[in-house]
Amino acid sequence: MSGLSYAEVIGDPIAQSKSPLIHKFWLDALGLAGDYRRSHVTPDALAAFVEQRRADSDWRGCNVTIPHKVAVMDLVDDPGNIRGTIGAMNTVVRQPDGSVIGTNTDAAGFYAPLADLDLEGAPVAVVGAGGAARAVLFALARAGVGHVTILNRSPLKAMGLLATFGLKGEVVGLDSSLPPVSLLVNSSSLGMTGQPPLDLDLSPLPDDAIVYDLVYAPLQTMLLKAAEARGLDTVDGLDMLIGQAALAFELFFGAPPPEGRDDELRGLLTA
Ligand code: NAP
Repeated sequence: MSGLSYAEVIGDPIAQSKSPLIHKFWLDALGLAGDYRRSHVTPDALAAFVEQRRADSDWRGCNVTIPHKVAVMDLVDDPGNIRGTIGAMNTVVRQPDGSVIGTNTDAAGFYAPLADLDLEGAPVAVVGAGGAARAVLFALARAGVGHVTILNRSPLKAMGLLATFGLKGEVVGLDSSLPPVSLLVNSSSLGMTGQPPLDLDLSPLPDDAIVYDLVYAPLQTMLLKAAEARGLDTVDGLDMLIGQAALAFELFFGAPPPEGRDDELRGLLTA
């Protein structure tokens, strides 16, 4: 053990993760001694990884990405009942007593750019029904949204999510027309580099609708370009990426990220 506190991001694959850049930027900006690494962990190695790290007092915890967000819930303590609510963990933190707890910072990271809006009763549409959609729907349910339309390739999975989060709404296919919603969120992988595009006709949306794309590679997705062409307000995936990382950073290193440095960080992330 080096004696240097460290956190890391784990996944399979992991080379694409931008988390090390974000956390190291904040560690440097605050002048904190610590490191943030990237570790490739396959599904069959996950349990042994958690046990090994549990015994390492230098380890502050890890961010968890695809495909471990569900499986990790069986390996850590869950004081916030994430299993019974969002159903996916993206952050694992080692406590001073050696216990290891899991939480989810994706939901709050997603909601942060919307926090000033009144979404009570607002009709919304969400594309996708995977792990990110769970965090999105949890946050939207807490915000008291109205009718929710989920567009997804696998309808049964999406219907289960409406029930899980106690939302009123419907599930439709990806080729259906959009309803006139106040907020459209893409939480699917569509539009991501290497994935098929998300080609939606935005003309049914009202002029004050907001379009939010969780995809951040590329940052300017086809969906966001179409929304901007229609003059709609947009939120890109970096807002959520930075927001969820900020909450995890404080849990790992005991201090919030520096204020007023987001533009610089966004510049680094898009360079
Ligand atoms: P996931 O659990 O694998 O879910 C992927 C979703 O995309 C599912 O709904 C899946 O449909 C759909 N999908 C994938 N390929 C498709 C295809 N070829 N045709 C139609 N639908 C397809 O992944 P996730 O963790 O939810 O992540 C989804 C996206 O959100 C990724 O782009 C990820 O980078 C992004 N994300 C961003 C942030 C952020 O901080 N900005 C945080 C988390 C995730 P089925 O249900 O039919 O399989």
